Amino acid sequence: MIALNYHELVEAAPSNAWCLTHDAFDAHLALCGGRLVSPGTFLQRCADPEADADNAVLLTFDDGFLSDYTHVYAQHMMTGHIPGFMSFIPVDFVGKPGRMGWEMIAELDREGGAIGSHGMAHVDLTTLSDSELERELAVSKSMLEDRLGRLVPLFAFPYGRFSRRVWDAALRVGYTHLFTIQLGRHRGFEPFLYSRLCVTNNMDASYMRLHLQDPDAARGFAWKISTKIGIYRQMMRARYR
Ligand SMILES: [Zn+2]
Repeated sequence: MIALNYHELVEAAPSNAWCLTHDAFDAHLALCGGRLVSPGTFLQRCADPEADADNAVLLTFDDGFLSDYTHVYAQHMMTGHIPGFMSFIPVDFVGKPGRMGWEMIAELDREGGAIGSHGMAHVDLTTLSDSELERELAVSKSMLEDRLGRLVPLFAFPYGRFSRRVWDAALRVGYTHLFTIQLGRHRGFEPFLYSRLCVTNNMDASYMRLHLQDPDAARGFAWKISTKIGIYRQMMRARYR
């Protein structure tokens, strides 16, 4: 399975590299064709190691932008174009200009979107003290759970930045699926880490086509060699200490 990570979608004139036009997003959806799966299906199939190699594609969106609701949910999910998506919320941003409010987030969750935590203030978690890290992970989780009335087991690292200390703390407070922005198929080098392609607006259709064909293609020499000789996980554990 392949997980894609988007941010804000706009009608025209994207303001930064992570912002895509509706047309660019539509072109990606066309390339995904019938391969899109709902968050529920993705999570079910995660437990099956065979599923790592299959062609399913999951859509995820970070940062709680209003376009998750107005565009992805209203224009694509409610009309049946896509089977659902994950939306990772930095809790301090809820209700701010350009971001979703709690009612929208709760509706998204009720209707089959999957809400996860993206921390509180969208900070690099590897730079925090233990108590700050605890607030980012545990308080965001409990605030989302209070609003949604269910457990929130999904977390995405802000800026994709993580370390063993960060992932240990996330697992300790009860997250079970931690999403990075590494390249590759969904399963990271630890079973609880999930790779995602962070989509930028310079990734044209040919880039996306290649990624959807072979999400490991752009991972480079070090990955190929270390995987081949079976030391990839150890290398990554050392790197992310
Ligand atoms: Zn983010």
